[in-house]
Amino acid sequence: MSVTGTLVDFDAALEQFDPALGLEVHVELNTASKMFCGCPTEFGAEPNTQTCPTCLGLPGSMPVVNRSAVESAMKIGLALNCEIAEWCRFARKNYFYPDMPKNFQTSQYDEPIAFDGWTEVDVDGTTYRVEIERAHMEEDTGKSLHVGTSGRIHGADYSLVDYNRAGIPLIEIVTRPVMGTGAHAPAVARAYVGQLRELLLGLGVSDVRMEQGSLRCDVNLSLAPRGSGGLGTRTETKNVNSLRSVERAVRYEISRQAAVLGGGGSILQETRHWHEDTGVTTSGREKSDADDYRYFPEPDLVPVAPSREWVEDLRATLPEPPRVRRARLQQDWGFSDLDMRDTIGAGALGLVEETIAAGASPQAARKWWLGELARRANETDNELTALPVTPADVARVQAMVDEKTINDKLARQVLDGVLAGEGTPDEVVASRGLAVVSDEGALSAAVDTAIAANPEVADKIRDGKVAAAGALIGAVMKEMRGQADAGRVRELILEKLS
Ligand SMILES: [Zn+2]
Repeated sequence: MSVTGTLVDFDAALEQFDPALGLEVHVELNTASKMFCGCPTEFGAEPNTQTCPTCLGLPGSMPVVNRSAVESAMKIGLALNCEIAEWCRFARKNYFYPDMPKNFQTSQYDEPIAFDGWTEVDVDGTTYRVEIERAHMEEDTGKSLHVGTSGRIHGADYSLVDYNRAGIPLIEIVTRPVMGTGAHAPAVARAYVGQLRELLLGLGVSDVRMEQGSLRCDVNLSLAPRGSGGLGTRTETKNVNSLRSVERAVRYEISRQAAVLGGGGSILQETRHWHEDTGVTTSGREKSDADDYRYFPEPDLVPVAPSREWVEDLRATLPEPPRVRRARLQQDWGFSDLDMRDTIGAGALGLVEETIAAGASPQAARKWWLGELARRANETDNELTALPVTPADVARVQAMVDEKTINDKLARQVLDGVLAGEGTPDEVVASRGLAVVSDEGALSAAVDTAIAANPEVADKIRDGKVAAAGALIGAVMKEMRGQADAGRVRELILEKLS
């Protein structure tokens, strides 16, 4: 097993090889009940409290298909320009795993509900078409918890299983190999998953929280000699669970595979693990073939045969596609192409939109999310959406700046407090005593003190060298512990010294 091995520089790898991407995304639907039983699906419930004989796979229990999950699956298929099957079945995928008590997963095999679709993503002004092979329905497994210092099964003291997640409806969306992306491959992968997330949010079919696992991504990658037009042997990196990691995992696999191939080795068709902390992939297990799973049609469920009227009714309810929405928002907000690209790249489109809806100007919303908050997210290795601050909080902070209750510097401290869980912006301002001192008497006194302490500076200003006021403003701000409106301080200094 090669853990880190040697890597080839990314650019050098692309001089020799063409990457082919493949993305498999699992989406947990937000239906109220599970795929084949009536158990609730709420996230974070006490372990093993949302189970029944069906999702525990007890003998004699019979599954029933969740109509609302089928409807969500069809909406997803339609939004990805897929054909919707006129008739399809579920299939048993047989394998043993402790978190899957039935010893098979109810999935779909050669008869997916949706197939032959496509979508398009834009990276640096180039549009890439991503072909969708299929979107099929299946159920989630339970969750194993390995207790011990490692957190993994190796070296664990013991393991626990929580079956609350077993049977939650999943849609697996599989692309065909995406070719011709070259150096854009990592960005195309990220853009595709990001756009898929927007599309799913827009459809309202999933919470799409990557950090909670309701959207999980497996990244397939292979390299072929440059210009050959062929497909090399691929690896499948499992459970890459943030947009940033999708990009990093593709980049890493390109460099790793190029090193193996360049050294005369060959790529093993295998699953690999992604390590968020170190940014590397390591060898998992050899990839099983479909044959190994002994798929066969599920005998306990009736086939799904959606009427064409149902399909057309759903098609009529589809929201605006993400690319169209982006073009409209860019126009409404007056963003440049670069502003828009940065916003999308940071995964901040929805956040900026909601912040504007909560009352902030487009420029202010962009400034906070792409500046201060992006920096915080980076520092803590988080997605922006995972930060414990809401668009409404950001809009409120900006409103306080506009009202001159706080200045920009204090606004950062207010965000510090909100991120630290100290409450709403108003609560943080109150508890930390951050409001700007608007008492003119106190300000005026601080200005007088600063003038008295810096007579030479004051003389310069009296002589018309207004630029020298900066030193006095600094002194006053220091005296006021930053809690003053610098613009008003400047006015007062000039009034007093003119
Ligand atoms: Zn159940």
